[in-house]
Amino acid sequence: MTNIILFGPPGSGKGTQAKKLAEKYHFLHISTGDLFRAEIGNKTELGQKAMSYISKGLLVPDEITIGMLRKKVEENHDVEGVIFDGFPRNVLQAEALDELLAERDQRISALIALEVEDEEIINRILERAKTSGRTDDADEEIIRNRIKVYNEETAPVFNYYREDGRSHTVYGVGSIEEIFDRLRKLIDSL
Ligand code: AMP
Repeated sequence: MTNIILFGPPGSGKGTQAKKLAEKYHFLHISTGDLFRAEIGNKTELGQKAMSYISKGLLVPDEITIGMLRKKVEENHDVEGVIFDGFPRNVLQAEALDELLAERDQRISALIALEVEDEEIINRILERAKTSGRTDDADEEIIRNRIKVYNEETAPVFNYYREDGRSHTVYGVGSIEEIFDRLRKLIDSL
């Protein structure tokens, strides 16, 4: 069982690459952002709560996010591997994920961070906003807030898994195929 965290700031290409990797390796792709957007689309109570944070570029509270993630993992116990995309986003979530996996005698195999400069990220997200319909993509102030939250709350997760050598970086600028190739090579070498 392989459990990979695809890590990086908003707009670093995690979603695109996670989908491609899941397809190639026949792994389950779990994106907490996608799960929230599905809840919002279905107008659930959880979706409404999440929306009030997402629209401001803030993290949805841990108890909501971890509960949703746990449910998704429990529904899919019979998989060869998982690509976690957008989770964990802080150290408490990383600890909860480790616990959840340990209950199943599993662990995170690797965290792979896509490295992209801030200005490139902002341009990419504003470009994505033209087709994504995501309100959190359309406003530069909200995007900057998401980057700030990433630097302050999410980036420490890289160090959390680095302590025992499980964190890796991949340069996230180039064509989708070039970046996919870099990721594939790294995963094959694990
Ligand atoms: P994403 O699609 O990964 O960019 O996520 C979109 C938004 O959903 C984020 O800006 C957060 O508001 C929220 N979100 C997604 N994943 C998490 C998480 N693990 N913890 C808290 N909030 C999250």
